[in-house]
Amino acid sequence: MAFDTLGLSEKVLAAVEAAGYKEPTAIQEGAIPQVLERRDVLGIAQTGTGKTASFTLPMLTLLEKGRARARMPRTLILEPTRELAAQVQENFEKYGTNHKLNVALLIGGVSFSEQDKKLDRGTDVLIATPGRLLDHFERGKLLLQGVEILVIDEADRMLDMGFIPDIERICKLIPFTRQTLFFSATMPPEIQRLTEAFLQNPARIEVAPTSSTAENVTQKLKGCISKDFEKRAALRELLEGAEDLNNAIVFCNRKRDVTTLFRSLERHEYNVGALHGDMDQRTRMMMLDNFRKGNIKLLVASDVAARGLDIPEVSHVFNYDVPSNAEDYVHRIGRTGRAGRSGAAFTLVTAEDQKYLSAIETLIKMDIEWIGEPIDFEAAALERKAKRKGGGRATAKSSGSSNDNEAEKPKPASRRRSQPKPQPATTSASDNNSEKVEETPVPQNVSNMPRHTSNKKAKTDKSEPAFSPGVHIPAFLLREPRPKKAS
Ligand code: AMP
Repeated sequence: MAFDTLGLSEKVLAAVEAAGYKEPTAIQEGAIPQVLERRDVLGIAQTGTGKTASFTLPMLTLLEKGRARARMPRTLILEPTRELAAQVQENFEKYGTNHKLNVALLIGGVSFSEQDKKLDRGTDVLIATPGRLLDHFERGKLLLQGVEILVIDEADRMLDMGFIPDIERICKLIPFTRQTLFFSATMPPEIQRLTEAFLQNPARIEVAPTSSTAENVTQKLKGCISKDFEKRAALRELLEGAEDLNNAIVFCNRKRDVTTLFRSLERHEYNVGALHGDMDQRTRMMMLDNFRKGNIKLLVASDVAARGLDIPEVSHVFNYDVPSNAEDYVHRIGRTGRAGRSGAAFTLVTAEDQKYLSAIETLIKMDIEWIGEPIDFEAAALERKAKRKGGGRATAKSSGSSNDNEAEKPKPASRRRSQPKPQPATTSASDNNSEKVEETPVPQNVSNMPRHTSNKKAKTDKSEPAFSPGVHIPAFLLREPRPKKAS
């Protein structure tokens, strides 16, 4: 099927052609004509399916008629994270290149005043995270009666992040006569209930169930008997052994582990950055931008980075932790092997992770291959217990990590890079995997020192800082790596 059969305007078709798209994806083919007919849409599709264009392209076409009034946005798109919101904005810029539309982004971590100015000017497309949108609304700076199209994107992620009450509130603030486009990768009961309450006779379009992992992604498991030192050593071993590693995302379940692992990899001189929900907005954007441009080769991330982010050509995904939610595994490894390219996903597994692993294998309907022999975790635990009883210290290790403690020793001060001043993070006493869990300071820098192995070197140029111009970059981020002393 060709794009020009879907009913999109000439301006939009020209932008699609400029983007180089030959034909619509399944979700685009299903959703675009329905949106143009002003029907509500329930799109069950995960990221990577072309979902964003399935709503931005017809919205642009519909927005060609009419104009925006001050503080009364014509359309509203709700996104769970700031990164996703910024990405949707980029999509509007890309596909709306032939339009003169005002697009505003309302996300946390940036000042209200700039956002107020944009709202005052009149907005055709408002892209927001739920909390910041409600903040503006409560300050009386925003009127929602003019919203003609409401998009709720990544609804299941909203659920994970505790945003459903906010979404319900926002839906009630917008006229019932609006058109609602609702996207979710999965349909848990809470999401089903939401669609029943807020969608009117929607066209349901479902593509590629989340239980499928791409065939072109090699998946492997590596067992670790103990946590911490051994896991970090095992990860380094995988990094060193990985074939054709161009860039990788390393996923952790908790934000505090993102911080710890980031620091450990940095100490080991990897070219590494970190990304999670408590970092300030500018740092997150810079981090992502540098990862996209190849200035950072490894990105340690929490699940905030797993969904929706369009980072082309990630060659490898490493799960430092087995995700406790099986669908997150599918989302995480969906970062690699995109658009038909081959990819690789490695997962570290400890005894505590076994139940999560079996849930994943049930979901994806396959057994993932182990590197070497699978560890008999029960036998290892018994052995450790026996050793402890015998007065010895618990020293069980898996193969290949005998010098873990040595490997984790910090380098002498002369070889350490200066650490950034940590930024205080919000605290939570709970111990689940949600983005709200964080107890430790957050890394604010990226390591710009390349790993010594030549194929992993960052392409940084002395004359060209690795960051976008116009952004204030702290001096320590721009410092050149120190030359190594000959030993
Ligand atoms: P999304 O699922 O919206 O995150 O899109 C995933 C990627 O697919 C993005 O890089 C888009 O630029 C790209 N894309 C969207 N639609 C098409 C299309 N019809 N043909 C080729 N690539 C597309």
